[in-house]
Parts: sequence; C-alpha cells; structure tokens
Amino acid sequence: MAKHRIFGSIDPTRGASPHSIAVIGLGRFGQSLALELMNDGAEVLGIDAREDVVQSLNGRLTHVVMADATNEQVLRQLSIPEFDRVVVAIGSDIQASILVTSLLLRFSIRRIWAKAVSDAHGLILEQLGIPHVVYPEKDMGRRVAHIVLGSMQDFIEIDADFAMVKTEVNPEHAGMRLGDSGIRRNHGVTVSSVKHRGAAWQPATEDTVLQAGDTILVTGPTRQAERFSRATS
Ligand code: ATP
Repeated sequence: MAKHRIFGSIDPTRGASPHSIAVIGLGRFGQSLALELMNDGAEVLGIDAREDVVQSLNGRLTHVVMADATNEQVLRQLSIPEFDRVVVAIGSDIQASILVTSLLLRFSIRRIWAKAVSDAHGLILEQLGIPHVVYPEKDMGRRVAHIVLGSMQDFIEIDADFAMVKTEVNPEHAGMRLGDSGIRRNHGVTVSSVKHRGAAWQPATEDTVLQAGDTILVTGPTRQAERFSRATS
C-alpha cells in the first residue's frame, strides 16, 4: 500500500469529474495556477510531497494530497488516469518531472501541461510527447523585456511572431475615428479594444473615436506591435 495523506474529502473510487484538473507540484507556480483555477470555478486536486505545503492549501483547493507523484500506485489510487487535464508543476527535480509526465502519458491522458525550468528540460518533455510545455521564468522574462523595451503596459506573445499589446493612445491619434486613423495601414497592427478613461473595456469598431489617455489593445506581428507601442510613448 503506497503512503499518502489526503486532505479534503476525496473518494478514489468516485473518479474524476470532467471539470476536474489535477495539479502535481504545488510550489509558487503550481500554487498560483491551482488557486486561479479554483477562482475560475474548477475542481482542483493538488498533489505535493511536502506536508507543510499541502497543509497550507488545505481547504483552499477542492482536494489536496500529500504524496510522491512518481509512484504509479499512488496516482492510480487518486484516480489520476481518469483526469483529462493534468498540470505537472515540478521543476527543479527534473527526474521527478520526467517520471511523473511519463506515467501520465502511460495513462493516455491527452491534455498534459508540464513546467520546464530549462531548454534541455523542455526538450526532453517535448520529445516524450508532452503537448504543452511551459517555461514560466523564460516566458515571463521575455514578456517583461518586451514591456521594458516597448514602453507598453502589457505584452503577450500569442505565437512565435504575433503579439497582443496593451498601450496608451498616441496623442497623434486622439480625436480620430479609428476607421480614419490609418493605424492598420501605416503600422500593420489592429486595435481590437479600447478603454476610455474611467470606463470599461469595449470592442473597438471603425467608428470608435480615440481619445487622449485611452488605453488600447493592439494585435499584430510582434515587431510591428512593439514599434507601434514605442511610437505612442
Ligand atoms: P516554483 O518555482 O514553482 O516554486 P520550485 O522550482 O521552487 O518551484 P520545484 O522543484 O519545481 O520547486 O517543486 C515544486 C513543488 O513540487 C514543490 O512544492 C515540491 O515539494 C513538489 N514536488 C517535487 N517532487 C515531487 C514529487 N515527486 N511528488 C510530489 N510533489 C513533488
């Protein structure tokens, strides 16, 4: 019998609901992800090997279990093969990360996200067949670099060369109808939403009149979105 301690009411014979998500590894990344999933109404099973970590999350996740997730028997007892979404948020113990992700693949779980702490770690996970490899530090570092360089308020890279940028309206465009601003023609980017000062976000249309102090969401090829944002600062 494998050793693990369960906090919260979990019945391993009950199986996982289709809305359940398992988060394995509850360090800073795993915890913030699990708590955000809870905020969004998901059922979350959190697993971590450390008792203090598990105790601190007791009552804040649907279920929290103290267990060594590299143990196949434990994962089976926790009905992990029945989950269709699992996040492996173990980073620095690369061996544990690889063992756990291999077990999940053996369970034929299709929707697996795994955190990588280095390019080599990520490459191994990708070669194993993990469909979603995330690089929290690397991605956040790149994101902040773009924000610093472009003087934008926020930056999200949607794809290798396509980004969404939150920035302020260039005074040159203030008072203009979006349809007459030439932003798409001259800068190669599209304004998709606008937030007038003190108001809520709204979709941008050809008839939206940009005002000084407005915040806009702009999408387009990364370089162009950056250049456009720099021009507005
Ligand atoms: P973060 O940056 O998210 O804080 P970290 O890099 O400091 O993470 P990691 O080594 O990635 O730490 O571990 C994240 C969590 O995964 C830790 O709380 C650790 O106890 C847990 N963990 C590590 N190995 C296992 C395992 N075999 N089974 C269950 N949990 C594990």
